[in-house]
Amino acid sequence: MRRCLLAVHAHPDDESSKGAGTVARYAAAGVHCVLVCCTGGEEGSILNPAMERPEVAERLHEVRLDELAEAARIIGYHEIVMLGYRDSGMPEAEANARADNFANAPLEEAVGRLVAILRRARPQVVLTYGDDQKVYPHPDHLRVHEVTMAAVTAAADPAQHPEAGPPWPVAKVYWSVWSRARILGLHEKFLELGLESPYSPEWLERASQDDTITTSVPIHGFEDVRRDALLAHATQVDPTSPFWFGLPWDVARTVHPHDDWALAASTVATELPESDLFAGL
Ligand SMILES: [Zn+2]
Repeated sequence: MRRCLLAVHAHPDDESSKGAGTVARYAAAGVHCVLVCCTGGEEGSILNPAMERPEVAERLHEVRLDELAEAARIIGYHEIVMLGYRDSGMPEAEANARADNFANAPLEEAVGRLVAILRRARPQVVLTYGDDQKVYPHPDHLRVHEVTMAAVTAAADPAQHPEAGPPWPVAKVYWSVWSRARILGLHEKFLELGLESPYSPEWLERASQDDTITTSVPIHGFEDVRRDALLAHATQVDPTSPFWFGLPWDVARTVHPHDDWALAASTVATELPESDLFAGL
């Protein structure tokens, strides 16, 4: 059996902030890893002062795609597939009204595109976002959840999208989890070292999905992948950001060295909690 893992993300940089260590681990173990990125991140502004240069701003879209390619290379993805939509921007942004953005595109059309990708790549494991997005309520992230869940169901059904190839049943679907234990661990390290913590009480309150965690994947040996992949997104990630990089790295890499996931659907028997996304396969 050719093992394949497919992750669906909203914007360039989401693949780095969520589950990068997990994907790196499976890629290194010989699993074929496919990244589906739903939008080009057109609405992202330059968040790193060192990159605020006219020649970068003028071709931000291309720059972001180059950054994505480099981050995906660092993580170990074998393939990047762009779903082909425009970034929607945050809820109050002007781009939110555009008909061609991901959140406003017809659901069935986006589902059809993802069904075709699932039937071609034939992943046993799909990674996506959950229905609880209090931590970061971006319309495109909510849409990723809706589109992925509908596409997994449709991909297995020969009556749906027959033009998109023979049916493919995905065995396991996981939602990425913002672990409170992880954020609390980081927060406490900041205080312990006498540093100002970037995690407000509101942050700690919102990240409260730990009761949904079914699966903790150890990322031993791959602790640095997330940081390195994030840094590849030079326009989006400020290397001096306390949120991402405020702790000395030799300390940060030891805090919570696993990624947390919630098993949302499974066609195979598996004993929970698990530490392997392919358990039961
Ligand atoms: Zn995003």
